[in-house]
Amino acid sequence: MSDFAVDPSAILDELRALREHDAPTHGGRVLSYVYDPGLAELDELAADASRLMQPVNGLDPTTFGSVAALERDLVGFVRDLLHGDTDVVGTVTTGGTESCLLAVKTARDAWAAAGGTGTARLVLPATGHAAFRKAAHYFGLTLDVVPVSAEGVVAVADVEARLGPDVALVVVSAPSYPVAVLDPVSAVAEVAAARGIDVHVDACLGGLVLPFWPDLPAWDLAVPGVTSISADLHKYGYAPKGVSVLLQRGRDRQRLQYFATTSWPGYPVVNPTILGSRSAGPLAAAWAIRRALGISGFQTLVDSTRRSTGAIVETVAGIEGLRVLGNPVGPLLAVATDPTVPPPARVDPHHWADAVRNLGFVLQLQPANGAIGSTTHLTVTPVTERVLPDLLAALTTGADAVRGTPHADATPLLGQLPPSAGPLDSETAAAILAGFGIGAGGPLPDALAPLLAIIEATPPVLAERLLTELLARLVEPGAGYH
Ligand SMILES: *Cc1c(COP(=O)(O)O)cnc(C)c1O
Repeated sequence: MSDFAVDPSAILDELRALREHDAPTHGGRVLSYVYDPGLAELDELAADASRLMQPVNGLDPTTFGSVAALERDLVGFVRDLLHGDTDVVGTVTTGGTESCLLAVKTARDAWAAAGGTGTARLVLPATGHAAFRKAAHYFGLTLDVVPVSAEGVVAVADVEARLGPDVALVVVSAPSYPVAVLDPVSAVAEVAAARGIDVHVDACLGGLVLPFWPDLPAWDLAVPGVTSISADLHKYGYAPKGVSVLLQRGRDRQRLQYFATTSWPGYPVVNPTILGSRSAGPLAAAWAIRRALGISGFQTLVDSTRRSTGAIVETVAGIEGLRVLGNPVGPLLAVATDPTVPPPARVDPHHWADAVRNLGFVLQLQPANGAIGSTTHLTVTPVTERVLPDLLAALTTGADAVRGTPHADATPLLGQLPPSAGPLDSETAAAILAGFGIGAGGPLPDALAPLLAIIEATPPVLAERLLTELLARLVEPGAGYH
């Protein structure tokens, strides 16, 4: 088309070239971020559905009735899976973070409507997702973090001890992302409900998996004191990013989630979520996938994922110097060093992740925090089963390569840090990063273990500032764009 400045095929070639340097989204080589069902036809269906809905604005389901129809269907589907009755209503959001943010906002407003005064408090086990820290920050709640054991388990008595009239919400996870623990949902809901306090179950990760996982205690809306629950369709619903479901118990309560205004000269604004105009693509993709899979399709995919997770847990448990943290529930696990063997036999989880990456599988390094030491995270998906023998071999070979190598030591680098953690300007932050050998805007180093050691040893306020600088400079354009 002569109207274009650049030929469309050249534009797409450029895009393909950019994608070549990305981590592979399919094939089971990346064990976090991506959720591959291993079904190419399902991806095609999702892409077609998304394309059909591409021009639609999800802002207004009265103008675009298709949006309401798809949303109604997905909310109903997830509500049935999570044992909600007809008193449970819900919304499709753009992702787990938005679902969590809205759960907190709703609880804060319900707490205030019930007479709560002063600053609302959010009680969160230390393993609760960072999205709840963001929610407390955005919506002005005091964050009250409950410590967990070295295995990531929160004690119900410790949660109960935090409960009081200023608590707007208690969050539990099903399961938690960093350690794969299924929090004691029933016991927490019972002590919270006795005081009239709301409970959110963060099932962003587990919401479309645990219903198909055998032998679990009740963890969803079947538990009476649970007031809301989040489940991400862009995780184990296998949809493209940008779609999650937030369910709330009670219509009156859920209406507090909405923002509505007729007090401006434009169209009446009635938003159940944070965004105004929003894409209907991921919604349509999620809907098409759920129609195509049906309950038995989900069950088959979860069964495969469960077999792979079991094999990985067994293999890691058998590797000298490593251990699986706690009792993982669902398709994920955290791996730590085994402190019961002598140091030369120990395997550091971060060096291990670096070694395994060199063997073709990307694991996720997690910094030590509180009682939980340094760990490496693995999220398992249906496609994992196809590469399972290679993966298990890489996990074992990688451990052999780094057994006895101690955890990276950041102390020599920490000398460069400014003595006080006062606010840094962007030039100073960039200079500190450069001193660590991390060129602002350049590629990350090959070995991530030293970077994680720096994060572990740096006061959070400073580490957060440095990482902000790193990410901000990543998208800073040079001069001369036109
Ligand atoms: C992924 C996840 C979230 C946040 O979801 P995003 O979709 O990344 O915004 C929240 N909680 C848990 C347990 C998660 O796994």
